[in-house]
This record gives sequence, C-alpha cells and structure tokens, in this order.
Amino acid sequence: MKAIIKISVLVLFTGFILISCSEGRKEGSSGDKAKKSTIQVSIPDFNADSAYEYINKQVDFSPRVPNTPAHQACAEYLLNKLNCYADTAFFQSFKSRAFSGATLNGKNIIASFNLNKPSRILLSAHWDSRPWSDKDTDPSKHKTPVDGANDGASGVGVIIEIARQLSMLKPGIGVDIILFDLEDYGDYSNNDSWGLGSQYWSKNMHNPDYRAKYGILLDMVGAKDAKFYMEGYSMMYASDIIKKVWTTAGRIGYGTYFIFEKVGYIDDDHLYVNQNSGIPMIDIIHLDNNSSNGSFFEYWHTTKDNMDAIDKEILKAVGQTMMTVIYEEK
Ligand SMILES: [Zn+2]
Repeated sequence: MKAIIKISVLVLFTGFILISCSEGRKEGSSGDKAKKSTIQVSIPDFNADSAYEYINKQVDFSPRVPNTPAHQACAEYLLNKLNCYADTAFFQSFKSRAFSGATLNGKNIIASFNLNKPSRILLSAHWDSRPWSDKDTDPSKHKTPVDGANDGASGVGVIIEIARQLSMLKPGIGVDIILFDLEDYGDYSNNDSWGLGSQYWSKNMHNPDYRAKYGILLDMVGAKDAKFYMEGYSMMYASDIIKKVWTTAGRIGYGTYFIFEKVGYIDDDHLYVNQNSGIPMIDIIHLDNNSSNGSFFEYWHTTKDNMDAIDKEILKAVGQTMMTVIYEEK
C-alpha cells in the first residue's frame, strides 16, 4: 500500500544538509524533490525495511536491561541516530528506585525538529526491555531477559525511521521525540512501579515551559496480526486525537488494523504524561483479549518476543499513519 496524499502548501527550503550522517539520505529520495519555493508536497513513504533494521539493531545489543552494558550501548546508539536526524538530541539522565529496591540508572532520550515552531507534537516509545520473561509458558525461562523486539524496540524503530524521514523533508510543525527508559521493570501488583522514565520526565520536563498540542505513544506496534483499539485513558484524555489518528489510518487503507472500538484502560507511559504534564497523549498499543496472557500480544513478556515476531506490514501501517498525521498537522 502506498499512501500519497497531496497537500497544497507553501514550503520554504533552507538547503538543510546533514554532512556527518549521510547514511540516512541514501535510503530515500523524498527530500530531493524540494527545488522551488512553491511546490506540491507528497507525504513521504515510510520505509518499513528501514524501521525493521532499526529494531534489529536494538535487539542485536541483547536485552536493554537497565544497569547493564547493553542498555548503555543501545542508549548511545539511539542518541547518535537521533543526533544524525534531528535538530537537537540529548539524554535526560536520572536515577529511580525500582520496586525491588534497586537503584536504576535511567536515560530518557530526547530529540527535536523545528525548535522555533510553537505548534508541536510529541512522539514517544520506551526503549528499555524487560529483565524477566515471566509470562513465558516455560517456567525455566522466567528469569531470562526479554529480547523486546516488539515490546519496546518496535515503537522506537518506527520513530527512528520517522526521524530519518523528517530530516529529509521538514514538516510544517515542530516535532519532539522522547524515548522513555525504565518502562518495563515493574511488578504486576504495583501499577506505579512501571513507567519510571515517563514518571520522571512528566514531573521534570526537559524544559519547564515545554508544551505540545498532543502526544502519541507507540508500544508493541510491530507484531503480526496486530490490532489497535481505542484504549481507555487515550479516550479519556485525548479522544479527538485518537479519532483523528484512527480516521487517518482508515483513509489511507489501514482500517483493518486500527479498530474503532473502545477498550479498557492500560497503565502505560501515556498515563503519566496525561496526568502530570497536561499534554494529551494517546497510546497505540497491540491489545488482544484472546491471547494466552489475556491482554496483550501473544508473546508479551516471553522469550518469543524476538525478531521472528516482527511483521513489516504492521510497521508500515503504523509508520505511514504517523507520517500522514505529522505532515498534515498545522
Ligand atoms: Zn513490557
């Protein structure tokens, strides 16, 4: 499915070139269409192969468990990628106490495009992976860390690919990216033991005056046969945004994945952003009442949440929908 939606806008190009990050410019050609000050702009094609590789790269570090070398190495990789593509990128480092009593070294990874634009949207995902495959059908695997190809890396991979696209064709609005850390180190009996990175950021924003019109959180957006329903808190805090995103998905041919049906409430990073920052944020998350865990995609918090679970068609559906929302936003 190719989504090309023509929008008539005046676009001023400033000859923006990234010299040190030439890799990104080879993979697409959308930016090369910009020649005159008045042109008709197509929404660039989201490249699912590229997103897949960004997921694969994260998984290759081995599980991104807090306080491990793999976690640190992946943080550096993601910061480097965002530095290539965005106007600015940096860590927000913090320490957080886990439910176990452990002190975790967290890093939220923050990047921005078009810093001077007052109209902004926020894109987020969590980049850490769970230390325990405690939903695995094999109890001997319960202490094995999760690869987190879908739970974590998929949302990040989609966002890094969007960042690459944004570097080639600047959108009309400002876009901020926050990759939250320490989402998945929680205890099932304690809601607030999850989402430690978003809890920290939403109470300690990188800029105290930071505002965005709305935010979109991606969580588990890469598995085969994913369905995205209208999650409860998203509807409570940002029903107009969720309707906009779901309508956009249907319009460009992805209505089989984005279902117009309200479902239950999920405690995810968007909850803290909504509660503490006042920025309305929705969650695009793969929910499945029929899975063996009863809530999420079948391989959630198991050793099977690996690259075999990732489906490029789903990445494309989510990524192209996001791109369309971003480039159509004013
Ligand atoms: Zn998880």
